[in-house]
Amino acid sequence: MRRVSVLGATGSIGQNTLDLIARAPEAYQVVALTGGRNVAQLAEDAMKFRAELAVVADPALLPDLRDRLAGSGIAAAAGAEALEEAALRPADWVMSAIVGAAGLAPGLRALEQGATLALANKESMVCAGPLVLATAAAHGGRVLPVDSEHSAVFQALIGEDIACVERVILTASGGAFRDWPAEDLAHATPEQAATHPNWAMGQRITIDSASMFNKALEVIETKEFFDLRPDQIDVVVHPESLIHALVGFCDGALMAHMGAPDMRHAIGFALNHPGRAPLPVERLDLAKLAQLTFRPACETRWPALRLAREVMAAGGLAGAVFNAAKERALDAFIARQIGFLQMAEVVEQVLDRATGEPGLLQAGITLDNVRQADHFARRSADEIMTPT
Ligand code: NAD
Ligand code: MG
Repeated sequence: MRRVSVLGATGSIGQNTLDLIARAPEAYQVVALTGGRNVAQLAEDAMKFRAELAVVADPALLPDLRDRLAGSGIAAAAGAEALEEAALRPADWVMSAIVGAAGLAPGLRALEQGATLALANKESMVCAGPLVLATAAAHGGRVLPVDSEHSAVFQALIGEDIACVERVILTASGGAFRDWPAEDLAHATPEQAATHPNWAMGQRITIDSASMFNKALEVIETKEFFDLRPDQIDVVVHPESLIHALVGFCDGALMAHMGAPDMRHAIGFALNHPGRAPLPVERLDLAKLAQLTFRPACETRWPALRLAREVMAAGGLAGAVFNAAKERALDAFIARQIGFLQMAEVVEQVLDRATGEPGLLQAGITLDNVRQADHFARRSADEIMTPT
């Protein structure tokens, strides 16, 4: 039996992970499950999977979690430290599916205890890619990408020499507004942005798909994960979301990874790695699909893509600043404090401030320095967004 933990179990990726685990209950011992605020779902799953420990992020919800788990023998805990302790519990495989920079520290803890980390939390690579990979190397752990594009690249690279890779092309669906006239974007609402044409995902990543901040994060994640130069990474809009990424080699060959837009594919690949096992995902009927289409990913329409290039050129802690500024701008957009197009403006201004702050971006990539850069970015974003 493999010991597995799911961080962010109550979310979209977490629930898809539990769906796969539930299909082969004899193969897994569930160690820890964590959730942000959805105590009912967390308690239900902890009992269904006979977890050893359930942790809720919000300490105010601990009494509720304890009540629900009373008599079950499942330990209950709450708060940021408890999340890290959950990740430290010995396990063979840990799913990192907390959303946002909050997922970084628990993921590092899982690597410190030598687990294989299935990384859906792209923010970890954006904020602290070198630290994540060094932690894995130091403790004999492994990081497996779960973002569909990165799982696709990883699969296309099996058996290949990374030195022969010329370029990686990430596909983007274009999100909710891909067919909207540019002049309408200023008035887009959070509800409109949170409807994805192809994928069923959490609210935040769905809005990030509409603004292309998700793809911007993924470009940086690609650079960190596969140690590529920024100029080797391209983005193309592919509205069907059937090709997830392509790898171009020095002989001109282009390897594309295709599949139905179902995250259980990438999650299942990481769960079964280094082997493959049948997965309950739709099989594509190419003749029925008839065609695949592609469009350029315009950096004027989607300034987040241009900002990602600037972040990669700056290096250091620019990724941590970029991500934190984006998280605050997204909070403000969801709360209707700023408009859809202002998100990129706020992030750009925060990056400018961070560049002018002596030593901030150049500090070493440690957890403490990432946290400092993160706080600076959130504080700056709040100042910029405060009406004067
Ligand atoms: P989600 O919002 O559905 O779930 C997030 C999970 O994190 C939930 O369990 C939530 O309770 C928990 N959480 C939220 N804030 C927290 C905090 N401060 N501390 C601890 N836990 C907290 O998000 P999701 O769509 O499942 O995405 C999870 C991660 O996977 C994100 O990093 C996202 O970018 C990435 N990802 C998601 C998809 C997808 O299809 N949903 C695809 C690729 C990558
Ligand atoms: Mg993705």
